[in-house]
Amino acid sequence: MFDSLSDRLGGVFERLRGRGALSEADVRTAMREVRIALLEADVALPVARDFVEKVTEQAVGQNVLRSVTPGQQVVKIVHDALIDMLGSDTAELELGVTPPAVIMLVGLQGSGKTTTTAKLARLLAKSQGKKVMMASLDVNRPAAQEQLAVLGTQTDTVTLPIVAGQTPVEIARRALSSAKLQGFDVLMLDTAGRLHVDQALMDEMKAVADIATPAEILLVVDSLTGQDAVNVASSFSEQVPLTGVILTRMDGDARGGAALSMRAVTGKPIKFAGMGEKLDAIEPFHPKRVAGRILG
Ligand code: GDP
Repeated sequence: MFDSLSDRLGGVFERLRGRGALSEADVRTAMREVRIALLEADVALPVARDFVEKVTEQAVGQNVLRSVTPGQQVVKIVHDALIDMLGSDTAELELGVTPPAVIMLVGLQGSGKTTTTAKLARLLAKSQGKKVMMASLDVNRPAAQEQLAVLGTQTDTVTLPIVAGQTPVEIARRALSSAKLQGFDVLMLDTAGRLHVDQALMDEMKAVADIATPAEILLVVDSLTGQDAVNVASSFSEQVPLTGVILTRMDGDARGGAALSMRAVTGKPIKFAGMGEKLDAIEPFHPKRVAGRILG
């Protein structure tokens, strides 16, 4: 992940650092290369454009070019802008509501929603001692509810007993009252996915959100889908009040564009990264670490 972007940027920076003095034209040439590198990594076009504009303005506008080490200063500006683009700090889950705090996971089919629900449930129980219940609201895909129950067994997480024939809203209501009654701290709702964003899916999610009043609505997106992931995120964020994003398959060889564009496009922080198929393969997303990895 990020390897080719990292190599490309490394080359640009080496050329910048290697020169004693820099002209405005040198900076503009370097930034053109940065822009191409970002686009080749699948960063959304407006995001890449804004990034380069901002960095160029800072680099030529201040006294950077007249400083003793202009190359290094420009690299530092790019570094800081990259962290900014990824979201400056690790974003925590906001669970300080009257329990049960509801975490709703939304996203397309195959994005890793069900796996991520179980991973997050396990993480909250292990690292924060939370008492977590999970419920699947996916009545479209055969065996989706059973899949979550199996993951519940594997992670020692309670899942809501399955009752055939209920609608997602009915299941959410039952989950909520059951979690309340049994004193759970957190209720995780795994919603149905679709192959594409469609209105029926959005309406269903809004209806569930209305009755469950989630503390967190997290969009799960597959980082391997690049620009598509960003388009999906932007459609979801227009219709559902997202509180954050979880990027899955960050263990794969995605070019990084989804991670880099997500915050700018949705205005929401990336909160976690899925790092593999195993149920402990999830990490809080650390913008500084990721920026460090990209810039080598
Ligand atoms: P859903 O349809 O959105 O609920 O997707 P699933 O949770 O069923 O996941 C689809 C596939 O992606 C499964 O085979 C998961 O094991 C796999 N998967 C989910 N997250 C990750 C991840 O972070 N890395 C990798 N390598 N595979 C993942």
